[in-house]
Amino acid sequence: MMQVLSIHSGATTKDCQSSGKLIVLTGPSGVGKGTLMRSLLARHRELYYSVSATTRSPRPGEIDGKDYYFISRSKFEQLVADGEFLEWAEFAGNYYGTPREPVLNQICSGKLVLLEIELKGARQIRRSFPEALSIFILPPSFGELEKRIRTRAQDSEEAIARRLHRAQDEINAADEFDIQIVNDDFETTLNSIEATLFK
Ligand code: 5GP
Repeated sequence: MMQVLSIHSGATTKDCQSSGKLIVLTGPSGVGKGTLMRSLLARHRELYYSVSATTRSPRPGEIDGKDYYFISRSKFEQLVADGEFLEWAEFAGNYYGTPREPVLNQICSGKLVLLEIELKGARQIRRSFPEALSIFILPPSFGELEKRIRTRAQDSEEAIARRLHRAQDEINAADEFDIQIVNDDFETTLNSIEATLFK
């Protein structure tokens, strides 16, 4: 007989035929979470990446619906009011959020679902979805993180300053999460994450 499982997230409970897993990748902006995520997806077709919604403007090369759903503040606020996000947060002057339905559907169909999100959202997931596995990516040093944020050079000086200020608070919270991995050598970091996900 097929077991029916229930997934609880905040006020929502969903009954599923099978249950996958929710994986949260978090850590300060510029630490390399996005690049790690893209490599994981390229190497493991069975992973599902949750595309977030944001009010930030697209950077050169970013595609609507693939990198993010780029939406207005009023649309974002409406979606928040309608309970459409699994988690959401304001980061460096913009809103970011994880659409609830697609994530729950994919978990229900047995997939490993990856979220790549900042600290406040990752904390919300820990509260509303305690069975999620959370991985915190640390930089080798704060100086190295600053260099990475600056060489990306796609943000204004003001946005960079906000991200750096926020990064220190984020690093201080690393211990709240299940696993901490220092992203010094990219391949080594990727292998450590794979070992955690597929052990
Ligand atoms: P960026 O503007 O550099 O693409 O992203 C800024 C920060 O927002 C990054 O730390 C990224 O992980 C985080 N982020 C992206 N999508 C989401 C989301 O749906 N929810 C939350 N809480 N953070 C997100």
